[in-house]
Parts: sequence; structure tokens; C-alpha cells
Amino acid sequence: MSYTAPLKDMLFDIEHLARIDQVSQMPGFEDAGLETAQAVLEECAKLNEGVIAPLNWEGDKNPSSFKDGVVTTTPGFKDAFRQYAEGGWQGLQHPVDFGGQGLPKTIGAACGEILNSANMSFALCPLLTDGAIEALITAGSDELKAIYLEKLVSGQWTGTMNLTEPQAGSDLAAVRSRAEPQPDGSYKVFGTKIFITYGEHDMAENIVHLVLARVTGAPEGVKGISLFVVPKFMVNKDGTLGDRNDVHCVSIEHKMGIKASPTAVLQYGDHGGATAYLVGQENRGLEYMFIMMNAARYAVGVQGIAIAERAYQKAVGYAKDRVQSRPVDGSMSAAAPIIHHPDVKRMLMTMRASTEGCRAMASVAAAAYDAAHHHPDAEVRKQNAAFYEFLVPLVKGYSTEMSLEVTSLGVQVHGGMGFIEETGAAQYYRDAKILTIYEGTTAIQANDLVGRKTARDGGTGAKAIAAQIEKTEAELAKQDSANAKAVHLRLKAAREAFVDVVDFIAANARSNPNAAFAGSVPYLMLAGNLMAGWQLARSLLVAEELSAKGQDVAFMQAKITTARFYADHILSRVPGTRDAIVDGADAVTALAIESF
Ligand SMILES: Cc1cc2nc3c(=O)[nH]c(=O)nc-3n(C[C@H](O)[C@H](O)[C@H](O)COP(=O)(O)OP(=O)(O)OC[C@H]3O[C@@H](n4cnc5c(N)ncnc54)[C@H](O)[C@@H]3O)c2cc1C
Repeated sequence: MSYTAPLKDMLFDIEHLARIDQVSQMPGFEDAGLETAQAVLEECAKLNEGVIAPLNWEGDKNPSSFKDGVVTTTPGFKDAFRQYAEGGWQGLQHPVDFGGQGLPKTIGAACGEILNSANMSFALCPLLTDGAIEALITAGSDELKAIYLEKLVSGQWTGTMNLTEPQAGSDLAAVRSRAEPQPDGSYKVFGTKIFITYGEHDMAENIVHLVLARVTGAPEGVKGISLFVVPKFMVNKDGTLGDRNDVHCVSIEHKMGIKASPTAVLQYGDHGGATAYLVGQENRGLEYMFIMMNAARYAVGVQGIAIAERAYQKAVGYAKDRVQSRPVDGSMSAAAPIIHHPDVKRMLMTMRASTEGCRAMASVAAAAYDAAHHHPDAEVRKQNAAFYEFLVPLVKGYSTEMSLEVTSLGVQVHGGMGFIEETGAAQYYRDAKILTIYEGTTAIQANDLVGRKTARDGGTGAKAIAAQIEKTEAELAKQDSANAKAVHLRLKAAREAFVDVVDFIAANARSNPNAAFAGSVPYLMLAGNLMAGWQLARSLLVAEELSAKGQDVAFMQAKITTARFYADHILSRVPGTRDAIVDGADAVTALAIESF
């Protein structure tokens, strides 16, 4: 069950699709060119392949456990986390001012994929710590930054995100935890938070909880929610740790997957109130939390790509090994490894093309994020921010739904052995399922795509992206190859279907919201499929050019074949999805609730 980081694929995307040469011209990223990317990725692969990946299976068999308020993580996790922190990996993308390495997301996202392929349960701890760091950088006071940031960036302490309560999941307006102001400017927090990832564990000295709660007397709904820092251990003026704060883990969950990642119920304020510090201003908590959530949503999308890659590698290994049945074309006189059967190849190609497509989309989104924050030209920053914002629900929603299809195919390739836990393919399938649920379910991502990202501007932003896709179509049309011509037709049909759906959503979102939202998840799947297919079409153009020059021909030809497969087998789903959304909206809501 070993894992080998797909560095060549990652570097191809970083160089040719995300255009690291352009990223490294932006202020602050001068040292972050292709060579840096390669060196960082190689080091990252070394730690993850050698230390963190071997603990993945162990975590499934021997999950985190809870006794008397104490959570003990899987044997080996604590030491692996120490190595991760000492290697500076927690600070990879964070500002140099707080001890980070200040690298662009274009490189950081690929490292995130490697870590998550190695061990998704383990990776959740750094993932949530990243979110806490982002929230503090964006909205924390100088004092909070001084106390918490360096320790979080170094991995000495870890962070959590406390949104969910029993009655408040997708709907955060229902948050009830309360915060009482204290004379010294701090607050006391009371309430119960559920499903808190790494809410308690033994891998770091302190845990910094970022908590949503309502200040006494605050307005109802989302406008009355504030964000607080609640440390597990109080921090003394000199930075040393003081008393235990009044936040306690009362249990952890038994789960379908990501078993090594402790999912905690946290009780705040049973002994007089948990000391809390306001982040930013009162009643603006949800706004700040969205900063964290956007970072975390992108990162969860990368988790989908990561688990798909791991499942693909495992399935390829098995398909080359398992001997069963003679090939239908008579090319072998005896039973052959199952990879010789066209349907097994179809499954492997679906896994490979879906994973590569989503990776390419995520890589381009990361570069847009970097440009949105670092480009010297304000107009370019604005355009990239809009592009990134559009892509976030797709990276999250589409890549994670894709990971379910891919990990399911991974089990299928293994036949009966896939269903047997010892094989390991089932773990990826079980682990992947959480990805379409946390950080906002696929439906919540789709609501964001329909409401904020499409209907709000009448579809203008979505159509600006369609115009960019047309440019790639024009490039494809100029090529002589049969592959480019075939991909061109599929891309054009998919882009036209996308524009039809954008028009439908924009026309119906206000006047007939049930019709627009009936197609919200199909629209998300359609748009994600298109964005991934578009990036693979771009990769085909690059690969054809480089292959013609004799550069790494076998690799480039595989890129071309994969892009062609994606266009014919996956992108070709888009026009059908368009029909379901535009023609089938009424059928979704027609049945009376009594008839269910
Ligand atoms: C393992 C695990 C780890 C987690 N980690 C964290 C964490 O670290 N911090 C944290 O705060 N939370 C965490 N969560 C909570 C997670 O984010 C929520 O479970 C998730 O947001 C869904 O909320 P819910 O479970 O209440 O489902 P519900 O909101 O009850 O949703 C049930 C169903 O209804 C649908 N639905 C709900 N509202 C709408 C709508 N408006 N439109 C369309 N469909 C809708 C959903 O899509 C879903 O299919 C974690 C959960 C798990 C299981």
C-alpha cells in the first residue's frame, strides 16, 4: 500500500497550466520559480512517502481513542507530527513575518495533495490549523497575532474550527453558543460544539479553538454571530502555558472513515465559562469564518484529488498483478492480468482522467489565488479574485464528488478483494465519503455557486470564464491532430451547455427559485466537469507541442490520451446534464411531499 507522489504530473500543471513563471514575477514570490517548486515537492514527497503514508492503514485499524477526557492518537502520529512541524511544513504558505516560508499556493496546494494522499486523517490537523492561521492573520488584533501566530505557524500548537452545534449544521444562523463580555475585555463562552476535528488530541502542547458564538444581546440570525479564540491552555504574558481553560472534550465519534482523525464533542463553560478573546469586531464572525472556510473548502477539494490519486495508484498495481480470463481480442492464449480487459482499462482511465482533470483545475485556481493577492495591478487582482471565487465551490464540490466515483471504481477494480478490508481499497472509499459532507455539503457549495457566484451578477462572471474557454477552443481548432479536433468538439458542446445553464439560472433564481435550485448540484457538477475538461484541453495543447519537439514523448503522449479520454467519456456528460437542469427542473419538485 505504498504511495508515490505524482511529481511529474504536478510539475507539468504548475509549469504549463498554473504558469509558475508568471507567479514568480509577483512581489513576494521572486524565489518561487519552477526549481523551487521541484525542490519543495521532492522534499515533501520524501517525508510523506516515508513517514506519514505508512501510518494511514494503521490509523484505520487503530483509531484515535478517548478516555477520561484525554484523546490518544494512533501510535506514530505524534512523532510524525513532530517531524512535520520541525520540517517547517505547517508554515509553507504562511507569511515570513510569523515564521512561515511565504510560498505561493501554487506550490502549497501540491504539497497539500501529497500530504492528504499519504494520510488524510493525519492531514486534517494541519489543514484546520491553516484555517485558524488565516482567520487570525485577516481579522485578529496585533495582540492576538503576537500571542498565537508564531506557535501555530511552527506547528507547536494546532488550531480548530468550531462552527457546528447539534441544531446548527448547514444553517449557522442557528448557532446558540453564547459569549458574555468581561470587565477586562475578554469574554466567557458557554455552549456545546459537535464534530470538531482534532478538537482534542495529544500531538501538540496547546490547541487554539476558533469558535462561533453570540455575544449576549446580539441580533438573531447570522448578523449576531462573533468569532472568538479559546485556547485549551491559557497563555501567560511570557508565552508559556498557564491553567487549563474551561473547554473539555466529552467524547469522540466512531466513524465510517477518517477514523484516526478525532472528531470531538467540546463542552464550553461547564465550570464558570471558557475564557475567550474576540477576533475582529462583534457580530462579524461569520464573515471572518468565511475566510477560513474558503481556505478550508479549497483544501477539502484537494483532499478529494489526493484520495483519488491514492486509490488510482493502488488499483493500477492490482490490475497489473491479478490474473483472470483471456483477453477478448485473442492477443494472449491464456488468462492475463486484468489490465488487459477493456473494461478494467476504462475504469482505470476514468480514475486517472478524473484525478488529473481536478488536479489541473485546482492548480489553476491556486495560481489565481496567488495573483488575486500578490499581483501588482489592481484590475488583474480583481479578475483573479473573481475567477478564484467561482472555482472554490467547484474545486470543493466537484473534486470531492469525483473522489467518490474514483474510490468506488478503485474497489471495483479489485473485485471481491476490494470489499475485504485487508486489501485497503475500501478505506479510501470510506474515507472519501466525508469530503462531500464537511466544510459545507455539496448542496451548500452548489447554493453558493447558484446564488453568490452566478445569479448575483446575472451570470456575467460565469460568461467571462466561458469566453476564456472559447479562446482554448480556437487554439484547438488550429491543430491538425485528430485528438485536438475531437477535444475541440466536446469542449465547445460543453461550454455551450454551460452558457445555457447560466442563462437558465440567472433567469430563474429570483422568479422561480425552486427551478433554479432544483438544478444546483447538477450545475455544480456540470461546471466542475467543464473546468477540469478545459484544463485538460489546455494540457493537450502543451503536450502536443512538446511531444512534437521530442520532449519526454511517452509522458506527453499519455497526457494527450488522458485528455482525449476525459473529453469523450466525462466531458461528454455535460450536454445531458444541461438537459436535466433546463428541461427537468419541474420533475424534481413536482411530487407532493405526502407522496414520499
Ligand atoms: C467527521 C466530521 C468532521 C467534522 N469536522 C468539523 C469541524 O472541524 N468543525 C465544525 O464546525 N464542523 C465539523 N463537521 C460538521 C460538518 O461541517 C457538518 O456535518 C456539515 O456542515 C453538515 O451539517 P449537518 O451534519 O448538520 O447536516 P444538515 O445541515 O442537517 O444537512 C442534511 C442534508 O440536508 C441538506 N441541506 C441542508 N440545508 C440545505 C440547503 N439550504 N439546501 C440544500 N440542501 C440542504 C444537506 O446538503 C444534507 O444533505 C464535521 C462533521 C463530520 C462528520
